[in-house]
Amino acid sequence: MKYISILGSTGSIGTQALQIIRNHQGLNVSALTANQNITLLEQQILEFAPELVCVFEPENAKVLTQNLRAEHPEVLKKTQICSGMEGLIRAASLESTDMVLTAIVGMVGIRPTMAAIQAGKDIALANKETLVCAGKLIMQAAKEAHVRIYPVDSEHSAIFQSLNGENRREAEKILLTASGGPFRGRTRQELKEVTVEQALNHPNWKMGRKITIDSASLANKGLEVIEARWLFDMPQDQIQVLVHPQSIIHSAVQYRDGAVIAQLGTPDMKIPIQYAFFYPERRFLEGERVDFFKLGQLTFEEPDLRTFKALSLAYQSLQIGGSMPCVFNAANELAVKRFLNREIRFLDIADFIEERMNAHTVISNPDIEQIIRIGEDIINELY
Ligand code: NDP
Repeated sequence: MKYISILGSTGSIGTQALQIIRNHQGLNVSALTANQNITLLEQQILEFAPELVCVFEPENAKVLTQNLRAEHPEVLKKTQICSGMEGLIRAASLESTDMVLTAIVGMVGIRPTMAAIQAGKDIALANKETLVCAGKLIMQAAKEAHVRIYPVDSEHSAIFQSLNGENRREAEKILLTASGGPFRGRTRQELKEVTVEQALNHPNWKMGRKITIDSASLANKGLEVIEARWLFDMPQDQIQVLVHPQSIIHSAVQYRDGAVIAQLGTPDMKIPIQYAFFYPERRFLEGERVDFFKLGQLTFEEPDLRTFKALSLAYQSLQIGGSMPCVFNAANELAVKRFLNREIRFLDIADFIEERMNAHTVISNPDIEQIIRIGEDIINELY
């Protein structure tokens, strides 16, 4: 039996992970965490009976406890409810947990991910913002603790699968695919007035709101380049982004003899989540299969770095290194929040990131506390 703590169980990745756990007898839940959605969290508690639950927002934790005490008092004998960062860290390092799925959104995931690693828990990593901000320190800590990090991001899972059984030193290049999002092919002029609803209308994937906006601006691909740099220890000039609108090739690795090994499949996040849970085993997963005859063709384009400036800013931040990728990430987190609140326009997202990067004095080897402070100073900036 494998016990899993799910950080962010009410989100898009979290709920799909619970569907997988529901379908397999060998998996069980030890901890669940959420922030706002205590209605869904309560249903999850009743179904999965976790040992620990953390609601990040303390007020919501109180309401959840009161509701359970009134309607299901027996649950509180088995399940402890806690809150805040301390609670997240407890959920990530719980003794009974074998693996932690980091499906929380944003750099709030840094501390719990580090805590899980230090407690020796294997990681199924969806929360890319953590690796973007603190990739060097996280990978170093995982190595020291002999902890494995299994990528859940579909592109990184594809790269991981394309490296299986190969000598990593023989890999020449990572080919990171991107759907191009809802605004592929548009000009800057055409993007001036796009709405939140249009940006949330992703052609291939149904995901949480933040990553959906990141996909529309290509900031997501920038975050993924940085994530790949750390996960696979690959220099940035050997990570190439290919726009592939069908999202069938999830990514690939090119080797020094010219061979390219790729992983393909329908766009379904349950595939990489389940693969991370059962690695190296492949279990049955119900769902659509790729029908190549129906598809007819797979196409590729170069990304338009002028229109989608966030991707080139991500490359720049990685090139500068140190604390700069954290600034890229934090500025993007705040800008996306402001765009979703309809306070800024779509193109302002990348401009805002650029401004914050220009204003930052780089720290070459920041420690975790410095990274968190730099990020929080930007995210909590008054506007
Ligand atoms: P969602 O927005 O759907 O879910 C986020 C989860 O995190 C929810 O459970 C939410 O709780 C919780 N949460 C949000 N803010 C906080 C906070 N401040 N403190 C504690 N918990 C918080 O996100 P996704 O599932 O889409 O994405 C999760 C991560 O996975 C992101 O890093 C994303 O980039 C990555 N990812 C997602 C993919 C996808 O297909 N969705 C694909 C690849 C990567 P509540 O609902 O209660 O507010």
